[in-house]
Amino acid sequence: MGITIASRESTERGRFPLDRPRRLRRTTAIRALVQEHRISPSDLILPLFVCEGTDIQRPISSMPGQYNWSIDRLVPEVAHLGKLGIHAVMLFGIPDTKDDCGSDNFDPEGIVPRAIRAIKDANPEMIVISDMCFCEYTDHGHCGLINIPESAHFDAGLPHGYLLNDPSLELLARASVVHAEAGADMIAPSAMLDGQVGAIRSVLDETGFEHIPVMAYAAKFASGFYGPFREAAQSAPSFGDRKQYQMDPANRREAMREAELDVAEGADIIMVKPAMPYLDIVSDLRAAFDLPIAAYQVSGEYAMLHAAAANGWIDLQRCAMESLIGIKRAGADMILTYFAKDVADWCNG
Ligand SMILES: [Zn+2]
Repeated sequence: MGITIASRESTERGRFPLDRPRRLRRTTAIRALVQEHRISPSDLILPLFVCEGTDIQRPISSMPGQYNWSIDRLVPEVAHLGKLGIHAVMLFGIPDTKDDCGSDNFDPEGIVPRAIRAIKDANPEMIVISDMCFCEYTDHGHCGLINIPESAHFDAGLPHGYLLNDPSLELLARASVVHAEAGADMIAPSAMLDGQVGAIRSVLDETGFEHIPVMAYAAKFASGFYGPFREAAQSAPSFGDRKQYQMDPANRREAMREAELDVAEGADIIMVKPAMPYLDIVSDLRAAFDLPIAAYQVSGEYAMLHAAAANGWIDLQRCAMESLIGIKRAGADMILTYFAKDVADWCNG
């Protein structure tokens, strides 16, 4: 307070200001010395979409520069990412066949377990993070088992179409072990089910994977910004929406409660998703926890920047980097972003 008052007095004295923050903005080198946050490829995690088939690198129209990859094409791409300085990827699977329980996700021969094995065989240093959810694998597109009358888990006390929490936890736990056995370095539960971190942590500990961390999607909001992802992962829900399990964009205190639960259940990293509309949440979690914090710059954030740049309205590189530095400034240690490869190229000149 004393400093503020003295400073105000000094700036008000005479014709010229005594306080001149611009002194530290005079040259590129001085600005670099006082820069508070930086983006490095090693802070970034690139999400990747893996599909069945061979020799496939299918462009995703709403996400320029992003693709559905068959495993044989994905493996050399990941090797290339490693050479660029990107050390972590997150996998999303696109199976050929889907069913009511998303069985491809817990099949050791499912698309993601095979992709993990292939990537780790060829690139043992690459950190492979498994997004752990069921929406890409279920025929209804929801994130676990659904309450329908003919199903084994039907609960007449719950609405038809309700996402069944505890039976779905069993599936998340089962799939997490399969992915860990395939070689996943980290499991990232994203279904927003109650107790998902604890269920996965205990099953990993029971099966000899106590060394595998859990990156919890702690505050995942029911967001319109996921739109392009659903094209990419072919995971749009066939009915309803995800508001009965993902968070209301209006809720800030609830995000803290979700994060506290995940930390108590054993999360190693807590994540906020999406990033840009939720930077206050990133900042809140940074202030409240010493755990590493991740933020996911989602497909809609990426697509918006690309669309504006394609129209000549903004400079893509400058605005992408500004969006990422904003996420770090809010308190994220690491960022999941589709710009990861671009950032590596830009940083490497
Ligand atoms: Zn999901």
